[in-house]
Amino acid sequence: MSNVIDPIVLHARTHPERVAIHTSAGPWSYAELRTRSLRYAGLLTSHGVGAGHRVLLAAPSCPEFVVAYMGIQAVGATVVPINTMSTEPEAAYFLADAGASLAISWQEVGPAVSRAAENAGITHLTLTTGAETDSTPLARALDREPSETAAILYTSGTTGRPKGAELSVANLLAAGEISCIVAGTSSEDRTGTALPLFHVFGQAAVMMASFTGGGSLSLLPKFTPQGLIDLLRRDELTVMCGVPTMWNAMLHAADDADSTDFATLRVAVSGGATLPGEVARAFEEKFGCTILEGYGLTETTSLGAFNDIERGGKIGSVGRVVPRLEMQIRAHNGEVCGPGEVGEIFVRGDTVFKGYRNRPDATADSLTADGWFRTGDLGRFDAEHDLRIVDRLKDMIIRGGYNVYPSEVEEVLYEHPDVVEAAVVGVPDEYYGEEVAAVLTPRAGAALTTADIDTWTRERLSAYKIPRIIQFVDQLPKGTTGKILKREIDRDALRATA
Ligand code: ATP
Repeated sequence: MSNVIDPIVLHARTHPERVAIHTSAGPWSYAELRTRSLRYAGLLTSHGVGAGHRVLLAAPSCPEFVVAYMGIQAVGATVVPINTMSTEPEAAYFLADAGASLAISWQEVGPAVSRAAENAGITHLTLTTGAETDSTPLARALDREPSETAAILYTSGTTGRPKGAELSVANLLAAGEISCIVAGTSSEDRTGTALPLFHVFGQAAVMMASFTGGGSLSLLPKFTPQGLIDLLRRDELTVMCGVPTMWNAMLHAADDADSTDFATLRVAVSGGATLPGEVARAFEEKFGCTILEGYGLTETTSLGAFNDIERGGKIGSVGRVVPRLEMQIRAHNGEVCGPGEVGEIFVRGDTVFKGYRNRPDATADSLTADGWFRTGDLGRFDAEHDLRIVDRLKDMIIRGGYNVYPSEVEEVLYEHPDVVEAAVVGVPDEYYGEEVAAVLTPRAGAALTTADIDTWTRERLSAYKIPRIIQFVDQLPKGTTGKILKREIDRDALRATA
């Protein structure tokens, strides 16, 4: 029997004074975090929430998110963390799909969640600092079956409505344990992030990992490059977790510090999207740390492959499959590929989700009867058994019968000294079926032209991979995790510029 709050309870017993979370008003110890969480559990109980219920939570990355999240776990309910930018119809959909009996939203999140809850006749609580103070704490967290659903995380996908991935108690505990092993996280570490905790990366590989290791967690509710640099200095972070766009933005931030200013920083954990080699090298140099890239999905509780701390980072690879998981690369016909061959990545093991809520067909499409999850990503193992992500299956461009992997083209674009960010997408083309298009943000003050990009890519890529459509923009569309959202790039508009 277990509960997602167990790591906090354990450290509160063995090292009660150790810092669990740094807040703007000072640190909270593990004992304090446990008490606050159990008080929040008491508050939920007084509103009739108990085992088997589902509770929607809309809050940015802040200590109060953790208190509410762990309070929900302690009563044996399922947390449904949603994007704080959700609109009222989206919140209404999440409430209905999850069958939530209570909704919580952070005081500064707009009225979308409270209105959706009111319309659905569901109790709504506003989350504030100290909301739990006057509640009677639950005596102890409920013991749960490891297979019970602890969290439902919605993934947007490309078509249809978001699907709720059900993560079990065991999935989340395993994700914390595995993350600690691969990143070498311990009670000595001070981990910081600007990732949203409602997304799997922040929740599993950062929050659960930090509490499992017994170190401290520092949270930045909204990413700005200088904000994260300031947090790094303030809390003397040893581990930082983020997506490549964050590292890139930090490199370009107007901070002329040199690497000795960040002496505490040991590791930067990168995931969620391809880490361009240029960005990795420059970041390691400026921040004087090792950057370790990992790969995972919501459905695998953020874990899959990782550049283990023992072996160090290997640029261009996301490392080996992590402990307690198995991985296969499968060809179109289902056969397992050999080293070097590109195919779809399949994963099986302790962090693989239970299935999509209310979506038996989608679950059957993605989970085989013997527990393998098909990721929809293309990859290959190199000679050292390290995984190399080729691209998302759905992002692959087929130009005149040839496969073009956008990430390979992006890698070349990132090497250009005047390119800050790049996204390569396929746009419909009457002759070739699809044409390769690149959307770029140039370095401020650079006089970059499409001809420059054309020359640069022609010198480095085969003819069919060269972007024929090139557009410069001030900003690329990004999700709340900071990942570039290719699906929001207007392909028709790009086509019109051809
Ligand atoms: P959503 O479906 O919610 O809009 P998403 O498709 O990005 O978002 P997530 O579960 O957040 O879903 O992200 C998982 C995906 O992110 C993976 O399928 C993979 O395509 C990509 N990814 C994760 N890590 C890496 C990495 N290191 N390199 C390349 N791609 C990665």
